[in-house]
Amino acid sequence: MQENGIKLEVLGSGGEVGRAALLLRYRGRGLLLDYGVNFDEEDKPQFPLHVRPTDLEGIVLSHAHLDHTAAAPFLYTTYKVPAVMTRVTRDLIRVMLKDFLHISGYYAPYEQSDVRSMIENTIAVDYGKDVKLGDFKVKLLNAGHIPGSAMTLVDVGGTRILYTGDVNTIDTRLVTAPDLADIEADYLITEGTYGASTHPDRKEIEEEFVKAVEEVIEEGGNVLIPAFSLGRSQEILALLYERLDWAHVWFDGMTRVINGIILSYPEYLNRYDLLANAVQQFRMVRSSSDRRRISKGSENVVVATAGMLKGGPAQYYLKRWMDDPTNAVFLVSYQAETSPGRELIETGRFLDLGLVKARVQWFDFSSHAGADGLLEIVKSVKGLKRVVVVHSDVGVREVLAQKINEEAGIEAITPNNGDVIELA
Ligand SMILES: [Zn+2]
Ligand SMILES: [Zn+2]
Repeated sequence: MQENGIKLEVLGSGGEVGRAALLLRYRGRGLLLDYGVNFDEEDKPQFPLHVRPTDLEGIVLSHAHLDHTAAAPFLYTTYKVPAVMTRVTRDLIRVMLKDFLHISGYYAPYEQSDVRSMIENTIAVDYGKDVKLGDFKVKLLNAGHIPGSAMTLVDVGGTRILYTGDVNTIDTRLVTAPDLADIEADYLITEGTYGASTHPDRKEIEEEFVKAVEEVIEEGGNVLIPAFSLGRSQEILALLYERLDWAHVWFDGMTRVINGIILSYPEYLNRYDLLANAVQQFRMVRSSSDRRRISKGSENVVVATAGMLKGGPAQYYLKRWMDDPTNAVFLVSYQAETSPGRELIETGRFLDLGLVKARVQWFDFSSHAGADGLLEIVKSVKGLKRVVVVHSDVGVREVLAQKINEEAGIEAITPNNGDVIELA
């Protein structure tokens, strides 16, 4: 290959949802796009392939979810690299990684001081502003996934590469959809979490969800809504405030801290008013006695982590409410294949505690674009030569790649971890 070629090394997220880690190389120097982890069946973090920090001009973190960030502080154990992200992402990362170290610290090859070092080396930018990192020119664009989430447009050696990070193409109460007009790129690296399916209309899902919550409360039952602490919890709280502001809604888990951070950046929120009012009017679970009281009561609605029921206060409530059929557990987050949440939906059982008698339902509140949205991105970007599909399970990514081929007429490839792709 030619000296001045641009290479893409897939260090993670090849054939898997999560562990986002992509390295662009040009003239021996690197730009890292995300450096996240995945979790195995025992919830042990799995780290991406290695990169020498001294090779890097910088790293870009697309958003604060752990599957895009939790490996990044490792780079700071020996060396300081500039890290580019939005301001809200920077503030969220601080609490997300503290929590990660608290839970998974035993497996993490770094410490809290390395997280601090990364934050000290952060260049916090607004959407649309150019940042120079050696030969790489970087610009962040709204990705519509969670507050502060970004697509990354890289310009290097005259070639433009757009990396979607996690992306959603519809407005939600939390964030607005990305503006896809006037984006030009030679190569698109796209996520494909839901590359083989199309989400139902958001409004219909919301109606169905609100009606279901009302039904349970009217029967005197309690509703548990396990939700990811960053993103989904806030969207659900805003929706509940808009539609059921009279209900006894509580929020529990890490959401409590995250709400405060997100609300300090109104410019990153679509409906700041709804979330601000929800957080003010609904109640925060402050103590274990609060938790006990709620679990013994009736007509309570609790939004709690973890979203896939892997732990957190959500498990506490479910254990106490699962035997009463007037109660309900409404799952609203992505459920990974081996998660307790997925098992509950598919078998009606929770861990080794047996059959759940409470009503169980999953609602498709996705913060990832479906196949139609991903195709819309491919078709909107001007000048595209090739698409690389990552952050997508094997089987799903092939369906998406074929769709891109057939419907947009552009070659799409599906690399595995460790693959090196010559872009230009
Ligand atoms: Zn992700
Ligand atoms: Zn994400």
